[in-house]
Amino acid sequence: MVIEDVHHRPLLDLRISVTDRCNMRCRYCMPREHFDKHHEFLPREDILRFEEIVCVVQAMLPHGLRKVRLTGGEPLLRRDLHELIRQLRVCSSDLDIAITTNGLLLKKQLKKLHEAGLSRVTISLDALDEQTYQSMGDTNATPSTVLEAIDAVQRLGLPIKVNTVVKKGVNEDQILPMVKYFGQRDVSVRFIEFMDVGSTNDWNLDHVLPAEVIRSMLTDEYGTLEAKRPDHASDVAKVYTTSEGWKIGFIESITNPFCGDCSRARLSANGSIYTCLFTNKGHDVRGILRMDGSPADITQAIQSIWMNRKDRYSEERSNQTTKIKVEMSYIGG
Ligand code: SAM
Ligand code: SF4
Ligand code: SF4
Repeated sequence: MVIEDVHHRPLLDLRISVTDRCNMRCRYCMPREHFDKHHEFLPREDILRFEEIVCVVQAMLPHGLRKVRLTGGEPLLRRDLHELIRQLRVCSSDLDIAITTNGLLLKKQLKKLHEAGLSRVTISLDALDEQTYQSMGDTNATPSTVLEAIDAVQRLGLPIKVNTVVKKGVNEDQILPMVKYFGQRDVSVRFIEFMDVGSTNDWNLDHVLPAEVIRSMLTDEYGTLEAKRPDHASDVAKVYTTSEGWKIGFIESITNPFCGDCSRARLSANGSIYTCLFTNKGHDVRGILRMDGSPADITQAIQSIWMNRKDRYSEERSNQTTKIKVEMSYIGG
């Protein structure tokens, strides 16, 4: 039985944060002055074990869940992540199992992840230019490591996309080079508007480069873009193609919100379900799992959480009063 929320949106996707830690400090996500040695990351015992994550997924599968995305923090910092994928794959051969990663640790783990049943990969890369990449990610790593990982994914034949957060005046000069580089390699790039997620990234509308402006840059360079029909209503990206057939996606959470079709729940690393990226309140399921709750108890909790869901944050953004929101590295991007 498919369950729907108050606005008749089904529960189709679950983003699973497997850790709140990361090996980068992207300025828009985990600015170092907030995520420094004084920051209290989740203690190990609070973090859901793989078996517990699997219980949550199993409870959602009969209600129409069709996709999970492993994320974080940086999911590849979680030891033996392939083991979680293997357990999820045992639950369902049809489940779409995706991962979003910064790619720095991917090349080494890719074979095991693939053999365990991973369906697809999204890699975050904000610039080809080394200096821009390092300053946005506040890292000494280099884009070449990420590009090598992308090549390795392509060699394996796994579907791949690249996510690029655009900050006005910071990496907008990377847009055309990235479109060309990835277009020539048949990799779809998705440009994400810088979002006001969390409370530490100093978000300001002046730092947002609207997707419409990016499309007009691309039209000047490549001619008319053709809008592609979405595969699913709940797809977050609007996809366009150039006359060369290059696919370019836009995630326009700020200028063109898509709450109406939002079918995503999030499971934080410590076992709370969040029904919106911009919420400040999670629903604890770890307590049920650890107090020997039965699968029926978990199912009932999830049904009640989802059926009471009303969130439409991005559509209501301009009416919001300032409130503390949870960080993306914790809730799962
Ligand atoms: N560490 C992994 C990575 O970077 O791919 C997974 C977690 S990260 C939170 C997931 C996605 O969220 C990344 O593609 C990242 O670029 C995006 N993201 C993080 N903070 C953002 C923000 N303030 N606005 C827009 N996208 C953001
Ligand atoms: Fe880490 Fe991903 Fe956030 Fe960057 S966007 S700090 S890589 S969690
Ligand atoms: Fe979904 Fe919340 Fe984003 Fe709207 S703001 S699309 S409800 S996660």
